[in-house]
Amino acid sequence: VTTKSGAIVVGVGDELLAGRIDDTNARLLSVVLRRAGYPVLRREVVGDDPDAIAVVVGRARADAAVVVVTGGLGPTGDDLTRFGIAKAFGAALRRDATAEATLRDAYARRGRPLPPGSLVQADIPEGFAAAPNARGTAPGLLRAADDGVLLAAPGVPAELEGMLDEILLPILATRPERGTPPKALQITTAGLAEAEIGALLSDLLIRGRDPIAGSYPKSGRVVLTLETFREGADADLALKVDAETIRDRVGSAFVGFGDLKLNEVVVRAAIEKKTTLAVAESLTGGLVSDGVVEVPGASAVFVAGIAAYKDEAKRAVLGVRAETLDAHGAVSEACAREMAEGARRLTGADVALATTGIAGPDGGSIEKPVGTTWFAIADAAGTVANRRVFLGGRAEIRAYARERAFDLLRRRFFGLPLDSAVKDGAGS
Ligand code: ATP
Ligand code: MG
Repeated sequence: VTTKSGAIVVGVGDELLAGRIDDTNARLLSVVLRRAGYPVLRREVVGDDPDAIAVVVGRARADAAVVVVTGGLGPTGDDLTRFGIAKAFGAALRRDATAEATLRDAYARRGRPLPPGSLVQADIPEGFAAAPNARGTAPGLLRAADDGVLLAAPGVPAELEGMLDEILLPILATRPERGTPPKALQITTAGLAEAEIGALLSDLLIRGRDPIAGSYPKSGRVVLTLETFREGADADLALKVDAETIRDRVGSAFVGFGDLKLNEVVVRAAIEKKTTLAVAESLTGGLVSDGVVEVPGASAVFVAGIAAYKDEAKRAVLGVRAETLDAHGAVSEACAREMAEGARRLTGADVALATTGIAGPDGGSIEKPVGTTWFAIADAAGTVANRRVFLGGRAEIRAYARERAFDLLRRRFFGLPLDSAVKDGAGS
């Protein structure tokens, strides 16, 4: 048994050092390991160099109970993690028969010949086990011993995630070095900016409080996290009291408990209510349709997505009137309404949503600055429209518009106001 605690995370790859990719694996590991009772003590990034990997891994295993290395496990010449780890442990590499069979089988099932050199992925340092990779070919390297745990996982985020859930976390749950993780609860909000949420919850977002609340803006939503180090029923009660306060104060911006995606919330609600959906998109050009189709089961409710970009297409396909376009332009309440109504008529869907806006960088004016977006929803009760002006570049504006479209559908589905009441900032 060791006196070490906590975890160290090591990212391997020249691409990380060169800044060509972001070390999002480290971020994921920081969150996951902390929740598992192993707060991350240090993160390191090292290039594709076995000697450098050996040094960093040797130091990490001396300092922490858990070491997770990601990247460099593949079959190519720059995948050198296994050699670095073998060196750090003074272990020889041995061909693992099960890992070899799994690799051969993976290719055989796809009817592809095994690429030369790829069996190196079945070479495992002595004292390590091959960790099965349910989402890819390269197995991980796992060592769980009295002096600590080390997992080397592939760099591909989905493969890493699978290995954490299926292999590492079950082991970490039983180790003596495990610390008390905080109990946490998340709340997803949409329709209010982070600063607006902050103003509503200023007394809860104070450092040193327990539970402590934090807010994390994601595209179009704000996810609030409550954490407590209290124990047992006391912890549950404290989280519940704060969660209810938050729910009450944010009102219609409350989406639900957990880190929820708006497209999933909307499509699941549509499936449950047996409400069919159509989308007519200008500014978002298919992003909203894509968000609908992303959700399993969407085929039960999604009738059609129409990307009508030019005025002629809005007229010819959706039946937007020429007079409307002449008098108000394509980025207008009237056009959004006619797009939604046209899409509903054309597809026979119960609910149709439309987007039209200015993504920039050009095309803005004083009255209609870049980012101006009109949304409309047509359903059996009539048609409603809503406007937002999004800030950012073209990509951000379109991404925000997509999320706002789903929030408006959520609000319409659940009979909520399209806009949350905003607390007046004057004097506070
Ligand atoms: P493969 O078998 O795919 O080669 P690997 O274990 O060798 O997997 P790398 O070659 O290092 O992993 O990285 C594969 C890809 O995984 C990278 O191109 C990158 O997209 C992603 N990746 C690697 N490391 C990270 C990281 N730290 N954070 C986020 N993504 C990463
Ligand atoms: Mg690789």
